[in-house]
Amino acid sequence: MDDLWSDTDAGAMVAAYGDLGHRVYTSRLLGADPALVLHGGGNTSVKIRKSDTLGDEVDVLCVKGSGWDMASIEPAGLPAVRLEPLRALRALDRLSDEDMVNVQRLNLLDSTAPNPSVETLLHAFLPHSYIDHTHATAVLSITDQPDGPARCAEVFGETMALVPYIMPGFALAKAAADVADAHPGVEGLILLKHGIFTFGDTAREAYGRMIAQVSRAEVYLARGPRKTFKSAALPAKPRSPHHIAPILRGLTSLPLDGGAGLYKRFILDFRGGDAVRAYVDGAELERYAKIGVVTPDHTIRTKNTPLILPPADGDFEVRAKAALADYVADYQAYFARHDSGQTALDPMPRVLLAPGLGLFGAGPTAKAARIAADIAENAIAVIADAEAIGSFVSITEAEMFEVEYWSLEQAKLGRGPSAALAGQVAVITGAARGIGAATARAFAEQGAEVALLDLDGDAAVETARDIGGLGLACDVTDAGDVKSAIDRACGHFGGLDILVSNAGAAWQGRMGEVGDDVLRRSFELNFFAHQSVAKAAVAVMLAQGTGGCLLFNASKQPLNPGPDFGPYGLPKAALIALMRQYAVDYGGDGIRANAVNADRVNTGLYGDGMLEERAQARGLTVADYLAGSNLLKREVKVEDVAQGFVSLALANKTSGAILTVDGGNIAAAPR
Ligand code: ZN
Repeated sequence: MDDLWSDTDAGAMVAAYGDLGHRVYTSRLLGADPALVLHGGGNTSVKIRKSDTLGDEVDVLCVKGSGWDMASIEPAGLPAVRLEPLRALRALDRLSDEDMVNVQRLNLLDSTAPNPSVETLLHAFLPHSYIDHTHATAVLSITDQPDGPARCAEVFGETMALVPYIMPGFALAKAAADVADAHPGVEGLILLKHGIFTFGDTAREAYGRMIAQVSRAEVYLARGPRKTFKSAALPAKPRSPHHIAPILRGLTSLPLDGGAGLYKRFILDFRGGDAVRAYVDGAELERYAKIGVVTPDHTIRTKNTPLILPPADGDFEVRAKAALADYVADYQAYFARHDSGQTALDPMPRVLLAPGLGLFGAGPTAKAARIAADIAENAIAVIADAEAIGSFVSITEAEMFEVEYWSLEQAKLGRGPSAALAGQVAVITGAARGIGAATARAFAEQGAEVALLDLDGDAAVETARDIGGLGLACDVTDAGDVKSAIDRACGHFGGLDILVSNAGAAWQGRMGEVGDDVLRRSFELNFFAHQSVAKAAVAVMLAQGTGGCLLFNASKQPLNPGPDFGPYGLPKAALIALMRQYAVDYGGDGIRANAVNADRVNTGLYGDGMLEERAQARGLTVADYLAGSNLLKREVKVEDVAQGFVSLALANKTSGAILTVDGGNIAAAPR
């Protein structure tokens, strides 16, 4: 492990952040290395003097605040807490979590600062100026052993003192401080089955010790054999991850209201690298994967154990369903064994191991799924190295329960997503710009994960980056292209729940004169492409078995034809029939189909003077055409159409309907 300290960079941080400069600098260095710190799995502090409101200098502990990522931490992420009131707590025999949090918040210099880390008291009770804490992968491989203490003594010698496993909080802080007092001169502490603390008079010293001590662990592990798991016999041609993901999403969905078609759904994040494959393909997977977490705070992200899936062939659905039912029953029994008045969390796995394929992280959002998958990969690294030198052991089931149901750990997850479309995946076609881009943004704002498909792949990627979604190139008139784009969206998010089939373009011509080629081109894009996309989406929705929502951009033309616009209107009329047919054919599967009739929206659809021509065809100026002629006298914007799509996605009992977004036009009202 390389020591990345640079005097130049450290100096620049001091110039930017003053007396917290070095603290910010090494926190970021530690946070940027996933072998040390992963998703909130570490913290740092510094003890300095600061002025309070009266201008008096007080001793404070600036310690990582919850919700901050160490890799990108700023001074605001290191809230200052008065040090003496924290230290005074060490005299107590016990302290409730509520009282601990209360004292920490009461002594913040800034009342609006985030909650200091759950390990704040440990930092406060130790005397050192700079303290670094990580859950270093290499250290965990050595402490998570039946003979972990003896191995640590061999690796770290007298330079580090050992603290037995205790759940984070007041009791651990006291125990760690007692151990440190009994071993003056050590460079840090090894917290068995948890992680490592190093300390020093300067940021340079604490950081340098962290790197040096973790390097010792790495050298020790490198001396042993590389772990190769003996592979199980697996199907030669398993189904692909994007094929089984929708099945798993469906199985893990939790009905919310007793059958009205609403579900708590999970997003899935797939990983299939070599290290993951070696682990999940192992013949002994059942043994080593179910031992427990590698460090306690992983349990809130991954639960204590993963779901092990059957091989992805044959009657996978049936066997996966049975495996999940066993997992749920085991979780409920585990809760019942330890329940002392807590509310049970949902029993669904957060990590699903797929022998022959890889693993899926699961979470209520794409971000949570990614975190679960990252942590699962990290746990695999720890367990593989631990098994190479000995045998991996975890904390006890009771200790895992204590952490999983600790209110301060659950607080790290926040209250969970509350947006209306959280956990749902929406695929939008023609999404790089105009109505499609506005619609993708509107769905993302409602909490949906969005995949943006567009003929212009680069533009789709750019718009997706802006919104926070997945951008994909897709020619919707090519059924093969559609299939592969939907597969990629499923591979990325685990499935799809909402389709907004929006891509389209306008062709003009008088019916008696227009060429068949023009009409056929328009039918390819404005009818058959919608059918290809809907067909591919419905296949995924049926695999999930949790209903779905098909939305089509129909336009006004089929309801109130304008002159010389037949080439555009005819396929759109067929599109409305298509929407109704999907509503009829798949209503029994909980799949709804609806359309938006938007009119006179100024989008890229009207290229090359077509807007002027359409206005002229109606005997209007462009301004009147866009706004002046509707009942509300308001120009309809792309955001209004996007809102129409969102409204239909939320209208859980509506199917086969056309929602008009045109500012009011009685002549175009469906009749
Ligand atoms: Zn920790």
